[in-house]
Amino acid sequence: MAVDIALAIFESPKRAHYQQDSTVKVNLDRTSSGFCIGVQGTIHLAEEKLEALDGKLYCLGDIVHNEVEVKRLEKLGLITIDNDEYSRLKHAPVLIRAHGEPPSTYATAEINELSVTDSTCPVVSKLQRTARLLHELGFQIIIYGKKAHPEVIGINGQCDNQAIIIKHPDLSNPGETEPIHFSRRTALISQTTMDVPGFYTLKENLEKLFSEKVDAADRNAALSWKDIRDIDLTAEMTGIRPLPQFVYKDTICRQVSSRNQKLHDFAAANDIIIFVAGKKSSNGQVLFNICRQSNPRSYFIEDEADLQDEWFSDNGEPVGSVGVCGATSTPMWLLEKVARHIENTYAP
Ligand code: SF4
Repeated sequence: MAVDIALAIFESPKRAHYQQDSTVKVNLDRTSSGFCIGVQGTIHLAEEKLEALDGKLYCLGDIVHNEVEVKRLEKLGLITIDNDEYSRLKHAPVLIRAHGEPPSTYATAEINELSVTDSTCPVVSKLQRTARLLHELGFQIIIYGKKAHPEVIGINGQCDNQAIIIKHPDLSNPGETEPIHFSRRTALISQTTMDVPGFYTLKENLEKLFSEKVDAADRNAALSWKDIRDIDLTAEMTGIRPLPQFVYKDTICRQVSSRNQKLHDFAAANDIIIFVAGKKSSNGQVLFNICRQSNPRSYFIEDEADLQDEWFSDNGEPVGSVGVCGATSTPMWLLEKVARHIENTYAP
């Protein structure tokens, strides 16, 4: 449910073009915006460690895809490093963020005697385990996701970096499907922050593609991939029941997808939407697109400096309501700050 944080009259001389008796409501979305549980856990662990260590903790990659939050933690002593810097680091405390890491990262930590605080989100850990087991069972793994995304790099690491990564559900990029071996057992999984409709579109398109390419004997199986659960993996591993040749597991995090409908409704209920997220946030792009589909007057910002005056008026009249919302990587304190800034600037 959206929380109404302000109702104010326009009377700022700076904004003289607005009618003085006009009002604008700033609605802050507290239920479907802000850190997900995984990111909350990481931030909490980082703050705890920084306090215990008296302020010096290395983090491999941005702790969260939100520059403003990264800067806040860097002021407390968090040092963000890239993979090259990590490989040279020795005898130091390092935080593994919620996205998780491939096995090679842990091997480096052991060699270089790094003290690792692992805050991989439990949802991601479970997905990594699924990918590893399917790979060990001989499946060719297809990941619906973005090749360069750290979570995908971590999952691919569980498959000896042999997974096939597809970002376009319509299979419009031939380079993505080119490495597929159609005669192999194949399993489709997903990066946790991809969109649910895209995942099922990809599954259907893979079913069509495989059914055209496989031998006649396998055509029926290729036309209908089996939805598997953890128990099915255990059944194959223990020899109780083999898995079929083509399987899929919807591994999209519901912390993200369950927000979709709520965010859609929130966007529709406001005249304009100010969506706050880091530009690197994959989840931010997905959720922003949902807002934009529901309300074309949705604007993406990183912080209040990106706000533009013209968004807040309709032919010289102030808009009636402004919805402020964000991604799972957007801290609530930042959303509150943006809402307060809008309130002070456009509804003082
Ligand atoms: S979006 Fe889901 S999987 Fe990703 S960190 Fe948050 S809770 Fe974990």
